[in-house]
Amino acid sequence: MHKTELCPCGSGKMYTDCCKPVIEGTVAASAEALMRSRYSAYVRGRWNYLHASWHPDTRPSKISPASTVWLGLTIIQTTEDTVEFIAGFRENGKIMALHETSRFAQVDGHWRYRDGTCDISEAGRNTPCPCGSGLKTKHCCGKLLRSLKASR
Ligand SMILES: [Zn+2]
Ligand SMILES: [Zn+2]
Repeated sequence: MHKTELCPCGSGKMYTDCCKPVIEGTVAASAEALMRSRYSAYVRGRWNYLHASWHPDTRPSKISPASTVWLGLTIIQTTEDTVEFIAGFRENGKIMALHETSRFAQVDGHWRYRDGTCDISEAGRNTPCPCGSGLKTKHCCGKLLRSLKASR
């Protein structure tokens, strides 16, 4: 991995200064920091960390690796123990938006993901791209998707 790589969570910081230390055991300073690290862990395929950072009461027995292509994360609002966000992803040739409010709780001084309310929908062509670029989907990830299809 390249040392100067930007963090997948979209913070604008380097991965090595942002989510990587949290994934590797540094205590997350807030529910938002934990949420960001979990998003980055999905992008990076750090399944053990995703399992470990899940609250023991709600954690699945095992997390199966998934091949979802994540496009970007936008945090909408946070409270002490909730984070509302939109995450864009690509699946079955479609640009999708996951809009979730996650709830977190502390266990022995560590933030853990408890559960969330989510809504998954296909991104509209003329609505802001769920990757968080600020462009319309058709000018952003939708365009990339069309070029991927064309090159097949
Ligand atoms: Zn990050
Ligand atoms: Zn996009």
